[in-house]
Amino acid sequence: MKVLRTIGDYKLHLQQVKSGSRTVGFVPTMGYLHEGHMSLVARAKAETDHVVMSIFVNPLQFGPGEDFERYPRDEERDLALASQAGADAVFLPSAAEMYPSAVKTTVSVSGLTERLCGASRPGHFSGVATVVSKLFHIVQPDRAYFGMKDAQQVAVIQQMVNDLNFPLAVVPCPTLRESDGLAMSSRNVYLSREERKQAPVLYRALQSIDGWMNEEPHMTGAMLEERLRRMIESAPDADIDYVQVLTYPGLEPVEAPLGAADTFIAAVAVKFGNTRLIDNRLFQKQ
Ligand code: AMP
Repeated sequence: MKVLRTIGDYKLHLQQVKSGSRTVGFVPTMGYLHEGHMSLVARAKAETDHVVMSIFVNPLQFGPGEDFERYPRDEERDLALASQAGADAVFLPSAAEMYPSAVKTTVSVSGLTERLCGASRPGHFSGVATVVSKLFHIVQPDRAYFGMKDAQQVAVIQQMVNDLNFPLAVVPCPTLRESDGLAMSSRNVYLSREERKQAPVLYRALQSIDGWMNEEPHMTGAMLEERLRRMIESAPDADIDYVQVLTYPGLEPVEAPLGAADTFIAAVAVKFGNTRLIDNRLFQKQ
């Protein structure tokens, strides 16, 4: 596995890869890898010839007072896991090279980014769209792999790729979970033992949706939000940021009863102590 730390080194590496007309699969991450990240690499390996993972804790997507400084980092462990997962190259740029001077050009996707996490984390998605577009230009992938745990991010990146004609396919991948249902996340290490015990309530609430919809065929988005909220609040340390039922990927309120909706997403963000967790479930008519 190649480890590339500068844009110049990556470009030289890419020349060799492209001269063999191999397709490039790309998995952007912020590191502190877990099985969720590794599953994206596995999918990329199955669908492309050469898999590049990036590890970059992007300062631009953290707001003031968020966890940029304390975000978990462990390069040695990450490189071992990336190699184990079968990545062909890891790109680890420095913040100094990615943002050599105060940034004057950013990418923002309107509408989609004003809801859910965008409402609680102003500027977050512009930071994401900016770094992902820079990484797309540098890495030049044919396919880029993103986890549906961050469903709003997938919608924003897909919109950006369509609007700006990036010549690549965005591939959404399923959320990997711990055995008790908690969505894997680098931030799970922040949870205290007691918070960790309570956190799977998010998954249990999302899993209850099927039963509730069977009981109540005319369930609306607002009714479902209320049920989810009540169940999540049964965990004593859960502090709800949002519980929302929206169309996907448009992220608009669902007008009709949910049974008639083509596709909707139930998305939650909940703080346990200082740790903000997100999770969601997507419902698609067959
Ligand atoms: P992050 O390092 O948290 O920025 O995540 C990098 C990529 O991994 C993003 O596309 C995430 O959506 C994805 N990811 C994070 N957690 C999971 C998970 N539990 N299952 C699948 N993909 C995930």
